[in-house]
Amino acid sequence: MIISNKIGIIVDEDFALKNKPPFPHPTFFSYESPLRIRSTIAYLEKNKVFEDKRISKIKPKLIDESVINLAHTKYYINSIKQLSNLECSILNDEVFITKDSFELAKKAVGGTIQAIEEVLNNRVNFSLALIRPPGHHALKENGSGLCIFNNIANAILYFRKCLNYNKNIAIIDIDNHFGDGLVQYFYDDPSVLYFSIHEYDFVEGDIGFINELGDGAGLGRSINFPIPANSTDDDFLELFEIINPILTEFIPDIIIVAAGFDMHFSDPIGNCMLTTFSYYQFTQNLLNIAERICEGKIVFILEGGYSLIGLPICIYSVIQALLKEEYQRPSSEFINFSESPKVKEIIKIKTTLRKLLGNYWTSMV
Ligand SMILES: [Zn+2]
Repeated sequence: MIISNKIGIIVDEDFALKNKPPFPHPTFFSYESPLRIRSTIAYLEKNKVFEDKRISKIKPKLIDESVINLAHTKYYINSIKQLSNLECSILNDEVFITKDSFELAKKAVGGTIQAIEEVLNNRVNFSLALIRPPGHHALKENGSGLCIFNNIANAILYFRKCLNYNKNIAIIDIDNHFGDGLVQYFYDDPSVLYFSIHEYDFVEGDIGFINELGDGAGLGRSINFPIPANSTDDDFLELFEIINPILTEFIPDIIIVAAGFDMHFSDPIGNCMLTTFSYYQFTQNLLNIAERICEGKIVFILEGGYSLIGLPICIYSVIQALLKEEYQRPSSEFINFSESPKVKEIIKIKTTLRKLLGNYWTSMV
């Protein structure tokens, strides 16, 4: 089947202006800033992306609090509202709150819902939500890792509970960090496949290990592919050896990418060495799979990615791949990284993972 390439990009100027970190650089908080979106939009405009007839700008869906309540407790939602009223506060070690936080986090959930809806209703072939704050660390009762509401989990619960949409969904999380919040929503749900590739850095965290495979009916539907710090493009792209056969066997109706770009070498928080070529190639490969199994339905939802120089180019490379256009890495990315590829570690991870997944997937035996 031939899939055309109409892309809906979810944008709203509030994401580029509001919820400015109240603390100066370089505190951890300061990275989740409106400049992430502002620099991205500027780069896309400079490259005439929005002048392309295949691309349309789409506003987030307006939602009310009851939608947020599908994924978060009333107590937690009220806490965010009250702290927003204080105009400047800290929720915990990893989340700051400003007067705009509640409304902007709600809008990020609305943007995620809109992105999925555009594709499910065939208005576009693909969508990309340029939203913030990110969501994949947020828990039902607490924010975490710069995330307030869990955008993707919340959107899926909306489709499940409000629209009776019950088909299989695959989430591919490529953020540098494990989606510890997102995975928990569907850990025992066999209709949601969660695959995460993340930097193997468990000095502070204690989940995201290779042997965490889901629970009950969801066993085998949570898959972790932890890779070492300093991993390169070739290391990263090994994920297809697992996700290609798994997705082919699972047959999702739609693929949602938790699109964090903090594995890019320029990122101030992640420690990997990817170039934008990884994101271009990842999108190309995933598109090939999606065209084969789910009529090409792919949605990208922005998660992390904090380099104001790297993030815009990563996003541009994804768009070029979706448009099936050529992509040249900028000359600034031709860097000879001194670290050698992590071939041995990656082979070990793949072998162990295949062994564990063989209990649940015939393609892994
Ligand atoms: Zn991250």
